Amino acid sequence: MPVGRYAPSPTGDLHVGNLRTALVAWLFARSTGSRFLMRIEDLDAVAAKAAYAESQLADLSALGLDWDEPVVHQSGRLDIYAEAVETLRDAGLTYPCYCSRREIREAGAAPNAPLNPDGFYPGTCRGLTATDRRERERDGRTPALRIRAEGRSFSFDDLIAGPYTGTVDDFVIERKSGEPSYNLAVVIDDDAAGVEQVVRGDDLVSSTPRHLLLYELFERTPPSYAHVPLVLNAAGDRLAKRDGAVTLADRAELGEDATQVRSWLARSLGLAGPTETPDVATLLERFDAAELPREPWRLLPADTAAASTG
Ligand code: GLU
Repeated sequence: MPVGRYAPSPTGDLHVGNLRTALVAWLFARSTGSRFLMRIEDLDAVAAKAAYAESQLADLSALGLDWDEPVVHQSGRLDIYAEAVETLRDAGLTYPCYCSRREIREAGAAPNAPLNPDGFYPGTCRGLTATDRRERERDGRTPALRIRAEGRSFSFDDLIAGPYTGTVDDFVIERKSGEPSYNLAVVIDDDAAGVEQVVRGDDLVSSTPRHLLLYELFERTPPSYAHVPLVLNAAGDRLAKRDGAVTLADRAELGEDATQVRSWLARSLGLAGPTETPDVATLLERFDAAELPREPWRLLPADTAAASTG
């Protein structure tokens, strides 16, 4: 049976943009009779908190979503990632990188030129000799481990966004802290769980070619991808916690329960009329991936008010 999943990072309560993506992921999976898995991406020991994982799962349940099998926590799988890193290292596909974030951002930027976008790695440490490395380590620098991507490009046909092609940089697979990177762990986990359908926010679309490189290196079959357009605030910027009442807890303080939030989220997806509060079974009946909005959705007070008074 096919498998879909949702994989939140427990760095805070989920906001309505995250909840909307989770709802779409669940609808994709359940409408095709797929199993649906939940994975907590808690590798960042500094930012991830167990209490947030609990509240995120509670909020997803309150919205009416369910999942199969026990929830997987990435923090319990470090040995598996270490083994994958070892495999790539032994195959000569990696190199240590001593650059700081700032050095990467500023690499190659002429005065007044825009900084290196998205931290795309320019390859600074790719050709270091053993002596160069020793020198840096003598200076107390700890390396991250990067993959040799050889400037390759990968294409895929996104189920929402359509065809996409991206060039892969030499991205980090193991951080300076020794933790695996998101880009490594996501591929290992989705593959291990047999995930065939990845539905996530479209802020990650540009990382997908990196994942496709890893699937190829591990000789595994990649899943299909659906990147859901993000929710924007009234000013047209990506929604953030500071944008006001954006979590279920915030909405509850305004007197609005999870069913009402689900109703206006459903409406934003073209699955409900202005005054309806459809249950998840109704949403499943109505769901058609081909009809999903292709554009980001702007969260405006008027759009949430109408459904909650309906
Ligand atoms: N943990 C990521 C996030 O919360 C999602 C990763 C994924 O779905 O691949 O944005």
